[in-house]
Amino acid sequence: MFRRNGENIPFDVHGRGTLPVWEQSSTARVVPPARPRKLAKVPFVELADGRLQGVVSSGSDAGRVYVSSIATGTYAFACSTNNNRPCGGARGSFCNHIRALVGEAVLQYGAERVARYLKADTGDTSATGPDAHTLVALMTATRPEQGDTSAAAPVFSRFLRHLAYLELEPTTAPLPEMQWFPPTRTVA
Ligand SMILES: [Zn+2]
Repeated sequence: MFRRNGENIPFDVHGRGTLPVWEQSSTARVVPPARPRKLAKVPFVELADGRLQGVVSSGSDAGRVYVSSIATGTYAFACSTNNNRPCGGARGSFCNHIRALVGEAVLQYGAERVARYLKADTGDTSATGPDAHTLVALMTATRPEQGDTSAAAPVFSRFLRHLAYLELEPTTAPLPEMQWFPPTRTVA
């Protein structure tokens, strides 16, 4: 405990500021996004189940969202509404929702981590590093197939569950569904 700028600062991580009390006592630190994201456009993005997947807002209809995904390795893509209607733009190649998903994933996780997860060989981009545009170009160049939309329902329900957490009071009690708890926990 020390004071700086007249404020009590209970915790200092590598001089990068303070952590709220609840976060200090969590078993895992919440990893901040690589760069800030605009949540309105892509409210949910994750690297999970062998896919980059997430929820993307419709550009035209505020009441509609799309569940978009790209499979690791094959880049098989899928995009459908939360009511499982197929996305008209995702015939033959990536639609704008999938492109937006890649862009936001790069902001959230960093391009290298996204490329690694998708097993996208970005070649010698060591000088600048890959970016979202490079990643999309690289994947679409392989002419990936359209995948099935079976993942849409579980992704969408996970998104809704994440929304519910926004309404919870901060707590140090474990929330079992939260995937960022470390694997050292005991699985019931
Ligand atoms: Zn789409």
